[in-house]
Amino acid sequence: MTVATPVEERKTGAEQIVWDLSVFYAGIDDPALEQDMKRVSQMAEAFAAEYKGKVDSLDAEGLMDAMTAMDAITDLGGRIGSFAGLLYSVDTVNPQYGALIQKVTEFGSQINQKLVFWELEWNALDEAKAAALLADPTITPFRHKLESDRRFKPFQLSEIEEQLLMEKSVTGRSAWTRLFTQLIAAIRVDWEGAHITLTQALTKLHDADADVRKRAGAAITTALKGKSMELSYIFNVLAADKASEDARRQYPSWISYRNLDNKAPDAVVEALIKAVTSNYDIVARHYALKRRMLGLDKLTENDRYAPLKIASADHFYSWEEARDVVLKAFQAFHPDFAAAAKRFFDENWIHAPVLPGKRGGAFCSYTVASAHPFVFLNYEGKARDVMTLAHELGHGIHAYLSGKAHGNVGMSTPLTTAEMASTFGERLVFRDLMANEPDPAARLAMLAQKIEDSFATVFRQVSMNRFEDGYHNARRTQGELPADKLSSIWLQTQRAMFGDSVELSDDYGAWWSYIPHFLNTPGYVYAYAFGELLVLALFKLYEARGAAFVPQFMGVLEAGDSDWPEAILAKVGVDLTDLTFWNQGLDAIRELVAEEEKLAKEVYGL
Ligand SMILES: [Zn+2]
Repeated sequence: MTVATPVEERKTGAEQIVWDLSVFYAGIDDPALEQDMKRVSQMAEAFAAEYKGKVDSLDAEGLMDAMTAMDAITDLGGRIGSFAGLLYSVDTVNPQYGALIQKVTEFGSQINQKLVFWELEWNALDEAKAAALLADPTITPFRHKLESDRRFKPFQLSEIEEQLLMEKSVTGRSAWTRLFTQLIAAIRVDWEGAHITLTQALTKLHDADADVRKRAGAAITTALKGKSMELSYIFNVLAADKASEDARRQYPSWISYRNLDNKAPDAVVEALIKAVTSNYDIVARHYALKRRMLGLDKLTENDRYAPLKIASADHFYSWEEARDVVLKAFQAFHPDFAAAAKRFFDENWIHAPVLPGKRGGAFCSYTVASAHPFVFLNYEGKARDVMTLAHELGHGIHAYLSGKAHGNVGMSTPLTTAEMASTFGERLVFRDLMANEPDPAARLAMLAQKIEDSFATVFRQVSMNRFEDGYHNARRTQGELPADKLSSIWLQTQRAMFGDSVELSDDYGAWWSYIPHFLNTPGYVYAYAFGELLVLALFKLYEARGAAFVPQFMGVLEAGDSDWPEAILAKVGVDLTDLTFWNQGLDAIRELVAEEEKLAKEVYGL
């Protein structure tokens, strides 16, 4: 007889799966590390000596030479930075690693200061001259980089104005966002006689006990309302600060800068928002079902994350099983997709175990084109961990393919398309796990989790974008906004999403005030929805077109950041400005909810 042990204590087989960083350096004491830092410094100085003040006199060959020299600096500097960062991530308490990362960060900043002239001078070139250079076939490998660097040119101010804005932002925008961060971190929520942090209190919304959730919700509201004067003032100051800078730069709207930064045309973002807001009924359908599965008369804002009562054991996946599941799913998609993933396992490009001092979570580090990507995990053997492995390997494959094809300049895509291979890979594996799980209750648990994850990235982010839109536009037309006004914009945009499936009380009106994205990176949130729906829609195309789609998609991945995203995606016949494209992604979520309804019937008899 075997006694089941908790997942945390079980051996996964991932204990010995650690990465080999020797592609960079033999170790922290490798003398090559110090020598390379000196070399990068010399290369940056030589670059500045050669090109500073002379960018406008370069012909196409000269421009190509300069970009090649810059790329060599990026590559060698990137090797040093990647090595230090990866070492540190698996042992953050090692003082030697901490000191190295600090040294490398300061070193990087010094190098950047030497090179900052390049982009300013390149952007200062007049249109006709730049267009002629960009049309020259000599600079093909760097064309998109050079072209896209110039997209901010129409909104740039004079050098002295730019310097002033940069300098004043330290005591302006940055100071206000830091105050916000500190205020939120210092908030204490009353909980059973103790004072807990906001993060701890928010976790209680996942509690199985409805009464715990209700009391947690009320305590959070009280804590947020206690700071509403300070928080609404900060929101007002930062909206006004953004409005005045946008006006100076002549950006047409509050979101223009973000769209430009994301390489996402306004029309594309508008189509995305419209598609998502027209499909809010999907959210209502899931929560109406959830209410019945939980056996409650009504769902309130405090029950959104309530766990389902499902009596099925979480399937345990050893490292070897996880590897096989992922490679099998990838192989069925395309041999090259699996072959690239296989290198990560065979050549020790993965760090998998949970270790003391190791960072939490998971990521893929692209590093540089002359090396290869690395995958970082904390593998514990849950179904979720298997999907995370597929996700990070997807990033790895994307970087591996685009790095091989286009080098460092074509390797990292903008945020909106960065999750293309990762989410796609995750979905391939999710589909297999679902198909191979015989227990309907386990399937229902997996599916409900997947649906709420999708909601968090698609619907919640877009409803938050609607709040931002209301908030910035109201500040621009109505002047300073009282907390009540911000609360009413929040409630209106959130009620629009939930319909009558979740009862949002007026108290929930205060819950806009702790979300850091609104202040740290205005306009950021829709990019999550963009990435997720893009992949869901692409997956639909895959299911419809089958084998014909596969090489096209591989081509998209290989293209990396070598062209505008809409141009790359046009190669698979996708028009991002087309509402029906985005609707296909939403249909995929709708189908998941329909499947959830079917399974709920089976499991709960609903
Ligand atoms: Zn990702």
